[in-house]
Amino acid sequence: MLAGNWKMHLTIGESIALARAVVEGTTGVTGGDVIVAPVFTALASVAGVLEGSQVAVAAQNVFYEDKGAYTGEVAPAMLRDAGCTYTLIGHSERRKYFHETDGTVNARIKKALSAGLKPIVCVGETEEEREKGVTEFVIGQQVKVGLYGIDSLEHVTVAYEPVWAIGTGKNATPAQAQEVHVFIRRLLGGVYGGAAADSVRLLYGGSVTSENIGRLIGMEDIDGALIGGASLKSESFIGIIKTVSGG
Ligand code: PEP
Repeated sequence: MLAGNWKMHLTIGESIALARAVVEGTTGVTGGDVIVAPVFTALASVAGVLEGSQVAVAAQNVFYEDKGAYTGEVAPAMLRDAGCTYTLIGHSERRKYFHETDGTVNARIKKALSAGLKPIVCVGETEEEREKGVTEFVIGQQVKVGLYGIDSLEHVTVAYEPVWAIGTGKNATPAQAQEVHVFIRRLLGGVYGGAAADSVRLLYGGSVTSENIGRLIGMEDIDGALIGGASLKSESFIGIIKTVSGG
């Protein structure tokens, strides 16, 4: 799975143009899921462009209620209505700037799943936490609390995104990423059983480029990537997709 997080970039027109370029550039590429996550205002237009293609649409966030007096929020069924199949949940920028917690992440995941929206749950430690040696403790909490009460991993994807690697150009080494992915998979195995943990997709995110994706994806427990900056240009995103698909 390769998911492009466009963050708060691109107008509707620019999003449509990028979506068209991604479809053109990936025609004939098979064997995995390609996803783009535009801003809310561009979701429906991008979904229209991607209809019938193998590229799916994700929202960048979702609220944990169905409807009501929640000014500024968007419910899962509304995102489905706009053409979304997936949604990011708990991105570190949401946690940092909008005070999202593992508890609200959990509520969002539950609500998304109940509306048929597949969550891509983001977890990751800060630089300070890594330096203090508490990476596994932090990731463990985020995974356990985030997924608390969720019976099945069938529609869940987890993205390991070390906060210090997002948008910094400083990506985790393949070995560092693999180490945390193994930790997450073991943790999930303890709760959901080995078969479910083996089939859940674990993405790495943090300064992924067409130059470094080959080494990351070569690691046994890295099943894809969540890509920010490099997904905003069709050449680099398509370069990443082609490297991974061998096309
Ligand atoms: C992200 O937005 O999730 C991300 C990983 O960003 P970048 O690739 O720019 O580090």
